[in-house]
Amino acid sequence: MARYSGAVCRFCRRENQKLFLKGDRCFTEKCSFERRAYPPGQHGQGRIKFSEFGLQLREKQKVRRMYGLLEKQFRNLFAKADRIRGITGENFLGMLERRLDNVVFRAGFANSRSEARQLVRHGHFLVNGKRVNIPSLQINKGDEVVVREKSHNLIQIKSAIEASKRREIPQWIEMSPADYRAKVRDLPARDDITAPIEERLIVELYSK
Ligand code: SF4
Repeated sequence: MARYSGAVCRFCRRENQKLFLKGDRCFTEKCSFERRAYPPGQHGQGRIKFSEFGLQLREKQKVRRMYGLLEKQFRNLFAKADRIRGITGENFLGMLERRLDNVVFRAGFANSRSEARQLVRHGHFLVNGKRVNIPSLQINKGDEVVVREKSHNLIQIKSAIEASKRREIPQWIEMSPADYRAKVRDLPARDDITAPIEERLIVELYSK
C-alpha cells in the first residue's frame, strides 16, 4: 500500500505541535519543531487564520499523522467507530489506541509507531501465542503481546525497551520488560489518551 516516505518533522511543524514521530530524536534539541516552531513553506511564518472547516481538517490531519494512517484507513476506522454504540469520538480514539502497532509502541517495544508497524509486519510479535503481522489488528482486554524469542536480540527492540524506561507506559498496559511481554489490563479510556486531541472536530468533519 502506498505510504508517505518523506520527512515527517514537517507534519509537527504544520500541526503546530510535537507529534513524536521520530522516537528518541523528538526528545533532543535536534527536534525540528524545537528549532523552527512554525509551519513549513514560504508563507509558514505569516499569520494563519483558520475557518471552521480548516480547524476540523487540521485536527483530523494531526491525529491521522500521529497514528500514521492513510486517509482511507482512517476514514474506514471512523466509520466502524460510528457504528458502535456510545460516543463516536471516544470510540474512534479507543480504536486507534487498540491497534496492534500502537500497543507495541505504547508498551515500549518500538521507538515510534512507524517502527512498531514495521516490526509487526515482519512478524516479530505473538498475540496470545500466535504470530501476527497485521498492524491494524484490534487488541482486546486481556490480550498478551509478546516479542518472539528469536527477535529478543533485535537491536531496534532492545534499544526501544531501554528508552522506554525513561517514558511513561500507560496504565492500561501491564509491561514485563524482562519477559518481553505486555498485557492489556484494560481497554484504554478517554482519559488515558493524554495527547491534546479534540475528537469533536473530527466527528464534525466526517459528519458533513
Ligand atoms: Fe516532530 Fe519528533 Fe521531528 Fe520533533 S523530532 S519535529 S517531535 S517528529
